[in-house]
Amino acid sequence: MSRRRAAVATLALALLAAGCTSSRDGGHVTPPAASAPGVPAAPAPDDSCNARASLRPSGALPAAGRMPAGTHMAEIQKRGRLILGTSQDTLLFSSRNPFTGRIEGFDVDMGRQIAQAVFGDPDKIQIKVIGYDQRVELAANGTVDLVADTMTVNCDRRADVDFSTVYYEAGQRVLVAKESPAQTIEDLGGKRVCAVSGSTSLGNIAQIKTRPQPVGRAGWADCLVAFQQNEVDAISTDDTILAGLAAQDPYAKVIGPKFTSEPYAMAISKQYPEFTRFVNQVLEKNKADGTWKRTYQTWLGDFGPAPAAPKAAYR
Ligand code: GLU
Repeated sequence: MSRRRAAVATLALALLAAGCTSSRDGGHVTPPAASAPGVPAAPAPDDSCNARASLRPSGALPAAGRMPAGTHMAEIQKRGRLILGTSQDTLLFSSRNPFTGRIEGFDVDMGRQIAQAVFGDPDKIQIKVIGYDQRVELAANGTVDLVADTMTVNCDRRADVDFSTVYYEAGQRVLVAKESPAQTIEDLGGKRVCAVSGSTSLGNIAQIKTRPQPVGRAGWADCLVAFQQNEVDAISTDDTILAGLAAQDPYAKVIGPKFTSEPYAMAISKQYPEFTRFVNQVLEKNKADGTWKRTYQTWLGDFGPAPAAPKAAYR
């Protein structure tokens, strides 16, 4: 079996196992607990906004290459490329293809489809590899036009950036050693559990009532190395990311149901509300004309048929 086939097969099993889920919309299953020293607890869920509700598209989608004057889309067109912020180590979402050197995956295709809508050419895109803890800042200050990076839309982040409508539904699970008796995150009380600094995952670990110890690292590959060197007992993050990590480690397994809901959306500076509306219009079109489904099948199709695309919500 090729490495990619093996990776995809493991990913399929992990995602299929996740079919039995107890996820709740944007919430946490357990009440807040004190965090480990040096690790900020996840902020209490903010119910004052509907995190999924984005800006409604207005008017007809402008033709590619004819972006309306005075808009951020026109600035992107003038620049000649869309700048996408993403990671390079998230298998099937945004990871470097070792044969071509290109960064590719479901998240990258979300960006390429916006470039297609602006220019009529999906290749007019510059990918900036960014850290997970830079996603909000670099979208907010306009360093990148878009962040598509397994990024959960939530109310705390939405205080600083706008988000597109949701394009993928993930949820947090746990990766442990194959011989571990643990069956859920709750069974890891007192154990060291790795997640990336700046991810929602790290704060979610701190909220588990049996008190696993959250350990922050710079990236998911760093968590995997820490796990393999016995510096941590487990890794916990979105099922999508964990499945990619499990595919790289035959001695690891993904356990338990999803215990959070992690809806992915693209982050965009609040300076360009017209661009958020444009992105949402492109997402609407691509969900309706089968492009979203084809993108799912390209990257995740080995897990079975594509689910219905997440429904857009507007405020
Ligand atoms: N989806 C979560 C987040 O946006 C965790 C995974 C990640 O860091 O990308 O924080």
